[in-house]
Amino acid sequence: MPSPPPRRRAAFCCPAFSAAVFIGYNSGATARTVCVCPKWSEGNHGLERFHTMSIAEEPAKTETPELKVVSDATCTFCGCVCDDMELTVEGNRITKAKNACVLGKAWFFNHHIENEPEATVDGQPSTYDVAIERAADILYSATYPVTYGLSDTTCEAQRKAVAITDWIGGCLDTTTSVCHGPSGMAFQGVGEVTCSLGEIKHRADFLLYWGGNPAESHPRHFTRYSLMPKGRHVPRGRKDRTAVLIDVRKTKSAKAVDIFLQLKPRSDFELAWALRGLIRGIEIDPSIEQKTGIPLETLTDLAERMKQARFGAILFGMGVTMTRGKHLNSEAVLSLARDLNKYTRWVAKPMRGHGNVTGADNVVSWSTGYPFGVNLARGYPRFNPGEYTTSDLLARGEADAALIIASDPMSNFSQPARDHLAKIPVVVLDPKRSDTARAAAVHFTTATYGINTPGTVYRMDDIPIPLRPAFDSPYRSDLEILTAIEKRIREKQFAAAGVTSD
Ligand code: SF4
Repeated sequence: MPSPPPRRRAAFCCPAFSAAVFIGYNSGATARTVCVCPKWSEGNHGLERFHTMSIAEEPAKTETPELKVVSDATCTFCGCVCDDMELTVEGNRITKAKNACVLGKAWFFNHHIENEPEATVDGQPSTYDVAIERAADILYSATYPVTYGLSDTTCEAQRKAVAITDWIGGCLDTTTSVCHGPSGMAFQGVGEVTCSLGEIKHRADFLLYWGGNPAESHPRHFTRYSLMPKGRHVPRGRKDRTAVLIDVRKTKSAKAVDIFLQLKPRSDFELAWALRGLIRGIEIDPSIEQKTGIPLETLTDLAERMKQARFGAILFGMGVTMTRGKHLNSEAVLSLARDLNKYTRWVAKPMRGHGNVTGADNVVSWSTGYPFGVNLARGYPRFNPGEYTTSDLLARGEADAALIIASDPMSNFSQPARDHLAKIPVVVLDPKRSDTARAAAVHFTTATYGINTPGTVYRMDDIPIPLRPAFDSPYRSDLEILTAIEKRIREKQFAAAGVTSD
């Protein structure tokens, strides 16, 4: 009797997917699949009972997926980089993520092994070897290449990307240039009074959140690091802390704080300088209310409270850095924290978004002296945001090739930048078929950092944290692919110079 065709299952479906039973009866890249869902009978699952969807090969029916628990794993979804995850892994899926927040769970549950080719070249499935050769050709031949992304990969891979960019004399930029780049510039201008999140947990009795919404962007920041936890010098946790939120709109985070100050959009700079003046005892004109929307009496009271704190922390987000004033806003906020140290202890920390964006800043800084937007064409680093940052450089139509690592500029850059990116050969490393990957000359499907590969990432407070992978991937890591590309580029350069690489 012939053996039955392999059973297939849906890679994604409706919100009730986990409760559904799928009976596959087709083969190929997509299949029509019957969704036998318990919610059918409840009538709230919509009338559409047949879903066309991409499908992934299910393990052989007789195989029992290996079950294991990975303790102290690290979530790399946001800059909190929580390293207390307890992951239950069944085969090549994570089925439980104890301690993860809602964003962390989405991260862990949506990364599994997909049925993708290991690489594509000009849109066609390819092998790693062919794709590495083509990628090395593109980057070696380019006269003004740019390397971009890097915030969602390990420090080891970031380091390799810096080396490649140095060998080919390109521009090196990270996603910092479109989030906390202004803070990176401000650090160089006025410095940073800083500390670890551990110090904030154990010491901070005054928290000033500014231009961010941690309740939704960094869900465990409040509970694990700043607002709620009991610390050595704040033994009653939340009860020992005063929390203030300054933002242009009332977000969910406003409910968690004691004082919410609604700021008029684009007036962060004026507010920071008014607070600096008040803290120094300088008289501020009452018209500050007209400018910022916050009465002078309220600001005077806030300045006094800040001076009386034992240990205060300003935690500022992209609401400060990506509005009018940009790096001048960050400078003003960092200077405010510095000024307060004349009276008591204050720090200021940016709330970083992507998992290892802080690692990207560290690696690029320790390698070149600058955190992002660095040009290496002359054999030494030059830093000039606006000129060497990828979105600007592409929008001006300057780069003639791009190496994009774990980022999707095609879905978030300006139209002129995307138009130019579509015209030049692009090499992409990404576990997913993103918009950028689909448009790329070469796309490498990679293993997901933290879930499939070990390495190091930096938490938003510049603390390095090791990764404990949950399960193996058939795909190579960013580090392995970048190492191979670097090797081929060097071989080409040595051959062109008439010397052997030995
Ligand atoms: S707060 Fe961030 S790092 Fe922590 S579990 Fe949630 S998404 Fe992951």
